[in-house]
Amino acid sequence: MFAAMRQAVNDPQAGFCRDCLTPQQRAAARRCEHCGSPRLLRHSELYRLAIAHIDCDAFYAAVEKRDRPELRDKPLIIGGGKRGVVSTACYIARINGVRSAMPMFKALEACPHAVVLPPDMEKYARVGREVRDRMTALTPLVEPISIDEAFLDLAGTEKLHGMPPALVLARFARAVEDEIGITVSVGLSYCKFLAKVASDFNKPRGFAVIGEAEALGFLAEQPVTLIWGVGKAFAATLERDGIRRIAQLQAMERGELMKRYGSMGDRLYHLSRGLDERRVHADHDAKSVSAETTFDTDLASPEDLVPVLRALSEKVSARLKKAGIAGRTVVLKLKTRDFRLRTRNRRLADPTRLADRIFSTGHELLRKETDGTRYRLIGIGVSDLSPDDKADPSDLVDVAAHKRALAEGAIDRLREKYGTKAVETGYTFGKGSRGRPQREG
Ligand SMILES: [Mg+2]
Repeated sequence: MFAAMRQAVNDPQAGFCRDCLTPQQRAAARRCEHCGSPRLLRHSELYRLAIAHIDCDAFYAAVEKRDRPELRDKPLIIGGGKRGVVSTACYIARINGVRSAMPMFKALEACPHAVVLPPDMEKYARVGREVRDRMTALTPLVEPISIDEAFLDLAGTEKLHGMPPALVLARFARAVEDEIGITVSVGLSYCKFLAKVASDFNKPRGFAVIGEAEALGFLAEQPVTLIWGVGKAFAATLERDGIRRIAQLQAMERGELMKRYGSMGDRLYHLSRGLDERRVHADHDAKSVSAETTFDTDLASPEDLVPVLRALSEKVSARLKKAGIAGRTVVLKLKTRDFRLRTRNRRLADPTRLADRIFSTGHELLRKETDGTRYRLIGIGVSDLSPDDKADPSDLVDVAAHKRALAEGAIDRLREKYGTKAVETGYTFGKGSRGRPQREG
């Protein structure tokens, strides 16, 4: 199937089937030429877009229906008893007029036969984590928004997955359905704002694409409330000024919008034009990758510290390579004998995943700190993480760096084959266990 995929995947207008994932040959067909499903996805920018927003459909209700099949065809409300409000309504209840945050008595007026269950947050958190784990298997750049939704940046993951982001996402949605038993909706675009808008488009089990070419025209038709941060109160302010449609914002100058609405005016200017530079930020605990070691005896001399730094740099590099990510800022951390923390950073021209670059940058930073101070701890890491496709470009100017990168690739392959001890660099050779030099006295 992969060979077929590779040759056909070039035609975004023919698209692919969301059920069997088969790329299609003909742009006009209404059903999948392989399985007959009508769920075909096609778009002129389908294979170029990489920013996604994934949102589980009626999440709490979906989890309960999964666990109680007898409720599958019944209207179901998850909420806090008769005096509480609706947390989530299933789609059958929604058809009957039930909405989130509606007082329960009103919801039951609208839909008297609804089954009401109290929320089981522990269970939802568990299922949410399962979905999240599957996302982070696709890309390190997953930014969770809530228990059941997240942004993903899949740029540069095509080689890893052997298919473009659109197909990776469709495969993900199918796997969540088959293996976790709930459904998701996917929005795919070139920026976060429109990815989020798209995921809301044809829920449930949706997959909508908004490309760059259509963004302006699409937005022009929409109400101002589509813009992030335009709630009821602000929409009323705009309404008083006669502004209802995004097209009206598109016709206004930036200065005028800012004069009227301050920083919100700036946002209106940019988002109304589909300009959203915000990056997808990885989950909190993945904001840096680092390694550190505490010495048995405090160390002061470069001869003692540098080999440890080298070994730690290799550890960090190995982790980055394994995760398919790179970092742009190198951070050196030292703790003095009297527990004072010193951190020193340097931002590189481009992200790196190479032990050699991490080490040499850390080494430069360390040089200024080896002034006789005795240290009890040294650590090195990188922050500013991104997928590694733009890491360590084979820079024509720095031929030496490129050669080192190639050599490091070769060393990595040797280590994979024969273990980490097989190849030691001059700095770590003979130092025994990594990052913890054995010292007498
Ligand atoms: Mg949701």
